[in-house]
Amino acid sequence: MSTTVQKPRGRHFFANPGPTNIPDSVLRALDRPSIDFHDPDFVEVYDAAFEGVKRVLQTRHHLFMYNASGHGAWEASLTNLLSPGEAILVLESGYFSEEWANMARAHGLEVRLAACDWRHGVDIAQVRTALGEDTSHAIKAVCVVHNETATGMMLPLDEVRAAIDAVKHPALLLVDTISSLGSLDFRMDEWKIDCVVGGSQKGLMLPTGLSFTGVSPKGIEAHGRAKLPRFYFDWTLMDKRPQKSFIGTIPVNTFYGLRESIRLLEDEGLPNVIARHTRLAEATRRAVQVWAGNNGPRLYCTNPARYSDSVTAVLMPEGHDGDALRRTARQRFNVSLGGGLGKLGGKVFRIGHLGDLNEPMVLGALSAVEMALRINDVPHGKGGVDAAMEYLSS
Ligand code: PLP
Repeated sequence: MSTTVQKPRGRHFFANPGPTNIPDSVLRALDRPSIDFHDPDFVEVYDAAFEGVKRVLQTRHHLFMYNASGHGAWEASLTNLLSPGEAILVLESGYFSEEWANMARAHGLEVRLAACDWRHGVDIAQVRTALGEDTSHAIKAVCVVHNETATGMMLPLDEVRAAIDAVKHPALLLVDTISSLGSLDFRMDEWKIDCVVGGSQKGLMLPTGLSFTGVSPKGIEAHGRAKLPRFYFDWTLMDKRPQKSFIGTIPVNTFYGLRESIRLLEDEGLPNVIARHTRLAEATRRAVQVWAGNNGPRLYCTNPARYSDSVTAVLMPEGHDGDALRRTARQRFNVSLGGGLGKLGGKVFRIGHLGDLNEPMVLGALSAVEMALRINDVPHGKGGVDAAMEYLSS
């Protein structure tokens, strides 16, 4: 006897921490015929989008863009700024700091780690100590993931900056803003960040495949000395191109979408965008804190000062599988949640609350989680969604 598989109905609810929902007006902007990337009509769109990204980064300095996901921009940041054998200090935060460090090792860099418990986050005093002890200034760069998407934890960049300045260390500050840009407060120039790594598919609400690095004048100076091999990502080569970015064909459609996504962010106003993320994140956390009753799933991040406002990682109770819960949410309710990455696979699931989202969308995702907890017989405190509604309506 054949069983009929229930086809999901209604809109696919997307609560992943990247890629994120693409707003309808961005989809409309992307949907257009090709155009020569030297065409003056396109150059106008390109320039507007390019300048827009700089405003979102809050920088007046340099910007280089790539046809690549965030990993490409990571590679650009390392190869353009460093030379073989040089040391970098990576602030451990989780899966993504590990990956960036692994990439650095693959390029022959020496990685020193400011290590931490992933649930609590690195103590910024460790940065001060590590740099203070480095009297020969062997450490050339400090690498920080602003928002660790795997654990739902944010790192205070102003404190990192202050720690570097306190010991007057000349190391460059490299920051991954892939899951914070357009969602959390981010100020490249004010925080004296030398290289920022960003991507298209999260707070910028675009398809995956465009990434970029903002670079300070100090970064450009270091680039002049950096000897790691590079070509596709080479800033010097890019600077000779008319568009000052991209070795190769420019993704024209993405730029129409990018111009629109910047318009949306600026229409709402960046401070309001950030406040919306904070509100939706807090609602999500309140739901999880209720589910944590009765030995249920709890917030993975145990450090309230570091809660991420763009993603919440939820730790499953022992013996219960986060991926099974996600399957139920997907199959029964057409809701997509993020899975655990690396060593957290199956142990956590992640609720993305960044990008184009409003209250009912987040409540929809939270309701699907709560129903999936019941269906999968996962012990939990009842009333998580109520707590989120209570908060959002207060
Ligand atoms: N850094 C962070 C914080 C991320 O969240 C991601 C991806 O989710 C990456 C880096 C890697 O970016 P990509 O997957 O676009 O290559």
